[in-house]
Amino acid sequence: MNPSDPTHTIIQTQDGRLSIPARPFIPYIPGDGIGPEIWAAARSVMDQAVARAYGGERAIQWLQVQAGEAAFSQCGEWLPSTTLEAFKTYRIGIKGPLTTPVGGGIRSLNVALRKDLDLYVCLRPVRYFEGIIAPVREPQKVDITLFRENTEDLYAGIEFAANSPESAQFLELFSAHFPQMAARLRFTDDLGLSLKPVSRAGSERLVRAAMQYAVAHHKPFVTLVHKGNIMKFTEGAFRSWGYDLVEREFSDCAFTSRQSEALRRSAGEEAAAQAEQEARAAGKIIVNDVITDAAFQKVLLNPEAFSVIATTNLNGDYLSDALAAQIGGIGIAPGANINYNTGMAVFEATHGTAPGMAGKNLANPSSLILSGEMMLRYMGWTQAADILINALAAVIKTGRVTADLALDRSDAHPLGTHEFGQAVCAAMS
Ligand code: NAD
Repeated sequence: MNPSDPTHTIIQTQDGRLSIPARPFIPYIPGDGIGPEIWAAARSVMDQAVARAYGGERAIQWLQVQAGEAAFSQCGEWLPSTTLEAFKTYRIGIKGPLTTPVGGGIRSLNVALRKDLDLYVCLRPVRYFEGIIAPVREPQKVDITLFRENTEDLYAGIEFAANSPESAQFLELFSAHFPQMAARLRFTDDLGLSLKPVSRAGSERLVRAAMQYAVAHHKPFVTLVHKGNIMKFTEGAFRSWGYDLVEREFSDCAFTSRQSEALRRSAGEEAAAQAEQEARAAGKIIVNDVITDAAFQKVLLNPEAFSVIATTNLNGDYLSDALAAQIGGIGIAPGANINYNTGMAVFEATHGTAPGMAGKNLANPSSLILSGEMMLRYMGWTQAADILINALAAVIKTGRVTADLALDRSDAHPLGTHEFGQAVCAAMS
């Protein structure tokens, strides 16, 4: 294997699509804690699915790269530049969980990867697997794909620590230039500050990705989730820019609630209802918006009203974990961080390193396995992705699950990490 052989490197063609060779190099980070054992299980499942689907005509050539504790102990760096370069060169990669180094000045490795590769979409599909014990009565009604903006918002990390010289300087400038706004600060001693940037460009590229996904996957609804009733110039602007984008770029295949509202005001209730009915009959995507707190209620009470959600960074952070909990899948939820313009994507387990479980063959590898399924689908290796997800669903249904999913399940036959991976491989037909 020669990792500099360009015939095995994923490239982006002039029309922006990815060209995937039959034997692509894919860099991977096994991760810290339980990472190496869930990686071993996930890798064998992915390899088996590809072999089943393409009978040896396609195969992934895995390239191990370092990050986290393993990298730090080898070369003194948590995220070596060679690892970032590998993700840039090979475009698609996958990773296990990484320890967030504790101590001043060291940023989260996950956040660093997203920022440095400008992976502006955090993609979190949430669907129920039969057999999993869920806290709601009808978890099978949940089939929602969440697009969370990944580079802006309070997550941008523009913060001033209380009582720091930076914070004092910022407050001085703020008071000098915006005295009326500064007067709204009640306690100026021991005051931490954070800026919330939300841009038109950042909002548009996120909503465009969600719309393109909805079109490609024949999804009926796209919902913009925002807190624009309170934060008008950031969250509210996200909503307006999202609608502008949809009405400008997707007018042939989408109808927005904002258009419906405008019709209602100009031509009356009946005309608006009729226009929406016609749009549905024509198979158009209905794009609406919901305020964040209402969205948390509605996904619980009426989950079938949602299929794709596009939202700002912090909302998406909360909502993606809440949705995963709703279907009992917090430990198995997969995720991907993607830049649809460059094609770069990093697929990942969404849970942490679970250090207390490390090395005990107890951890559930499903999150990383399902991230692998997302990766295969992203590569266009749909047949392998289908085989993988069907096998995983079949094994979970029979109750052969790891200890975390066996709890409260009377039909469970608990398996170790390795044995669970083997059971999924064996279930592929
Ligand atoms: P954690 O996700 O590691 O653990 C939370 C709980 O979930 C624990 O009870 C753990 O045992 C359980 N758990 C997690 N993954 C599991 C699996 N695959 N199978 C069965 N049970 C599982 O979160 P934490 O304890 O807050 O964080 C530990 C470390 O992981 C920290 O350094 C944190 O920064 C890091 N972290 C990394 C990522 C990432 O790389 N994406 C995400 C979250 C946390």
